[in-house]
Amino acid sequence: MTDALHPQPSRVNPILLQGFAWDLAADSRHWRLLTDNAALLADAGFTAIWLPPAYKGQAGVDDVGYGVYDTYDLGEFDQKGAVPTKYGTKDEYLAAVAALKAAGIDVMADVVLNHRMGADASEDVLALEVDPANRYRPLGEPAEVTVWTRFTFPGRAGAYSDFTWDWHCFNGIDWDERSGRSGIWLFEGKEWSEGVAHELGNYDYLMGADVHVMDPTVSAELDAWGRWYVETTGVNGFRLDAVKHIGAQFFRRWLRDLRRTTGRALPAVGEYWSEDLAELRGYLGDEPVMSLFDVPLHFHLHAAATSDGNVDLSRLFEGTLVDADPAHAVTFVENHDTQPRQALASTILPWFKPSAYALILLREAGIPCVFWGDLFGTPETGDLPAVTELPLLMAARRLLAHGPQHDAFDAPDVVGFAREGDAAHPASGLAVVLSDRHAAVKRLHVGARHAGEQWVCVLGGHGPVVVDADGGAELEVSDGGLSVYAPAAAESELGRSLDRLVRQR
Ligand code: CA
Repeated sequence: MTDALHPQPSRVNPILLQGFAWDLAADSRHWRLLTDNAALLADAGFTAIWLPPAYKGQAGVDDVGYGVYDTYDLGEFDQKGAVPTKYGTKDEYLAAVAALKAAGIDVMADVVLNHRMGADASEDVLALEVDPANRYRPLGEPAEVTVWTRFTFPGRAGAYSDFTWDWHCFNGIDWDERSGRSGIWLFEGKEWSEGVAHELGNYDYLMGADVHVMDPTVSAELDAWGRWYVETTGVNGFRLDAVKHIGAQFFRRWLRDLRRTTGRALPAVGEYWSEDLAELRGYLGDEPVMSLFDVPLHFHLHAAATSDGNVDLSRLFEGTLVDADPAHAVTFVENHDTQPRQALASTILPWFKPSAYALILLREAGIPCVFWGDLFGTPETGDLPAVTELPLLMAARRLLAHGPQHDAFDAPDVVGFAREGDAAHPASGLAVVLSDRHAAVKRLHVGARHAGEQWVCVLGGHGPVVVDADGGAELEVSDGGLSVYAPAAAESELGRSLDRLVRQR
């Protein structure tokens, strides 16, 4: 197993949980909920959890966490209208991190360094307005604007850090208070960072006041904050937000230095939102310091879910990160941005979700990330139903998805794969068949070690089959369906595992 996300090589078949959805109730109870359910999450098979940004955002308790105001305020100071964040207080956050770690779950903190919002005061600065569609193209001459870039954190009054921010710490902004106009302005003497996405000419600027991470003063402050954060919270690693808007060279240095100064492994996974595999690999570089979410695979799954069967399933993994560089791929089906009504909405339709999860949970390659909104649904909005097959698929990953893999991605509408199982996991092995069109019978090689065994359909509703003498089996799948087969001897252990979860709930 890669050390990029999991420092403990002994962890077999890790599963990361994205431990929040966009529309969680703003009741400041989420950290307590996680503390109370840490053991249950561990029992369900989660080995790591990505927690939402834990610091005060400009919208106070209503801020999901990406409108970063003060990264030293983990729900401790009366700022932006309240002491707690959307998820609770600092003490509750620290308790949740401790409880999750005690249950055997690594905690990944969401780190948002690209921008700041909700400044305490405005400043006058000379700036060049640029074309939002091409940030290298100036619109006119530099002129004075009034911008919200002064962050003094009066509610915190210097606790933990006396660093304050002014316009020198930023590259640009999207609002001129003087003219009451939005646009994009590049501050005097600043340049957009290199090593960011090339969309819109240069995609350094995303939102808010864009942090100039390469400025020596800012860089030193982000180093100091990183050490403070790791030592204060004890988190095991990071999910890094919006990395395509932050020069690749920054995290290469920041992560390496932080790992050295704290003496911790601090595995990290970055959000680089692009379907272009070459761009992802370019960002990772020759010596990757992080994994990346497999955004190309997400879009392939989205296409499969929305094409009425017209996607060629045999090419599903072509051009994905998990295919090209499995050691640095975190696979996922949905997240807080792709869920309905969010910025990057590209929701996987419910009929295909179990298949999509089987494709990330039951195969060898990549570290799968399960979305909170799929595990529990989003009752706050009713946008997403819970994927009721998830507990079974996760139990199958833990108990059965071992040993060599045999692929049958050889037809446009019906594909499958099998895992042979291994001696270390009794009755392990499984077979998966999925269709995006018609019902079918597909022959899979499940391994000669299973010759003569009866295999049962644990998901999909079909009858049992007998593995033939050379290790092949004829497996059924329904219209647009998913079938998971396993050795009959595995059925009782799978059932016990699920019963235990139901009893704890
Ligand atoms: Ca930026």
